[in-house]
Amino acid sequence: MSKILIVEDEESIRKLIRVNLEMDKYIVEEAESGEEALEKFATFNPDIALLDVMLPGMDGFQVCKILRSQDLDLGIIMLTAKSQDIDKIEGLESGADDYVAKPFNPKELILRIKSLERRVIRNPKEHEKEDRFIENSCFKLDKKSRKFYKNGDEIELTPTEYFVVKLFFENLGEAISRDEILDRIWGEDYIGDSKIVDVNIRRLRSKIEDDSSNPDYLQTVWGMGYIWEDLDAK
Ligand code: CA
Repeated sequence: MSKILIVEDEESIRKLIRVNLEMDKYIVEEAESGEEALEKFATFNPDIALLDVMLPGMDGFQVCKILRSQDLDLGIIMLTAKSQDIDKIEGLESGADDYVAKPFNPKELILRIKSLERRVIRNPKEHEKEDRFIENSCFKLDKKSRKFYKNGDEIELTPTEYFVVKLFFENLGEAISRDEILDRIWGEDYIGDSKIVDVNIRRLRSKIEDDSSNPDYLQTVWGMGYIWEDLDAK
């Protein structure tokens, strides 16, 4: 069963999340501060971390950056204040996979955790019957090891970024709408904002494009979504 680290300074919220996760058979560890989260992370080795943004001392964004730098495969969900505009949630830029605004229904949080789990937890048989590699232009996607290369150099992707790239590589040269990306990656039960897609595309572009403000590969289809150009078809 997946291991979840809850990082939240308010005890009542922490306990509410814990009770609900344990009913769903998750293994849970708690931290009251960012500093404690870093200690627990090292010993508990969670699959997913839930990070409250407003923490005493080090805030959730700083914790997110440190955890992401230590573990690229960790799933990270930020717990944000409802008033926060997703465009301003820097935790998403710094490597979080998703966010849930407070106050939230624990059932909604669990749906989001389950969706993220599908990205974070590897099923060794998932691509057994498919071709292992997809190549296009200077890129190569390895579905078995979940690695992605540009000119032979590995580009390090979070689990969410990997699934975004995989979706585009399985549909090269086809425009994909934000809603479809949201359904396919974050799950059909996702009730958050499709801006989460834009945030992830922006982060991805900074990793794969030569000039992320003037993309050659992952292009915007205005008012609709995105397309990964099939450069080998031209
Ligand atoms: Ca707090």
